[in-house]
Amino acid sequence: MNTRVTEIFYSLSGEGISQGVPTVFVRFAGCSLRCGKTTNKKLWCDTEYSLSHNVGEILELESIIDKISSFHSNPSQIILTGGEPLEGANKLVCIELSKKIYESRLDGRFQRVRIETNGKEDIREIPFAVFSLDYKLPGSGMEEYMLPENFLYLVDRKNPLDEIKFVVRDKEDFNKAIYIISKWNLGNICLLFSPVQNELDPALLAEWLKEANLSNSRLSIQLHKFLWGNQRGV
Ligand code: SF4
Repeated sequence: MNTRVTEIFYSLSGEGISQGVPTVFVRFAGCSLRCGKTTNKKLWCDTEYSLSHNVGEILELESIIDKISSFHSNPSQIILTGGEPLEGANKLVCIELSKKIYESRLDGRFQRVRIETNGKEDIREIPFAVFSLDYKLPGSGMEEYMLPENFLYLVDRKNPLDEIKFVVRDKEDFNKAIYIISKWNLGNICLLFSPVQNELDPALLAEWLKEANLSNSRLSIQLHKFLWGNQRGV
């Protein structure tokens, strides 16, 4: 079993409830969405270098596990990201990898696997991971691809480590996020709000969050950019 991987590296988790936790990242190649690329606007994806399905190298499952182990014998967290880790051939590898990582916890290796996914790919066949699930708001131009069943699945399974992320371009986006949270009863899940870099002032988003006063919401600023800037492999 194999798929294309752009990079595997050791850093700190940059966002959400695991922010600051030492983490091995596995970045899979390929994503069919193009977030932010709407009329007169540019792509805002942080990992444009990983969007093609032809970048990186083809790696067997066992060699991905070996590379993860080479950074640390017992990493606190492993994040499967992209590109999109659940698209195409990536998905089968992610399912098997998350299962193996989960089972490895029993012998003291590998503590936790988190999958960062774009809201379009079905997450319901993967019980061995926790999720950082995006809801793509209108400003991304990708909202039509969101799969409602993904969000309802997280509501049902009630895992306190799951989170839903909203990347907000403007007030219209923020209002839509509030509407979706209410419509699908997402209020018991950890809700992350991140501003589109260079388009929305984080302080303004903070004010909107204070006003909305959702109990499970938090402002999520990307720690890795604060520490290391816009670099690969951090
Ligand atoms: S879904 Fe993620 S990887 Fe794909 S374009 Fe959007 S931000 Fe980039």
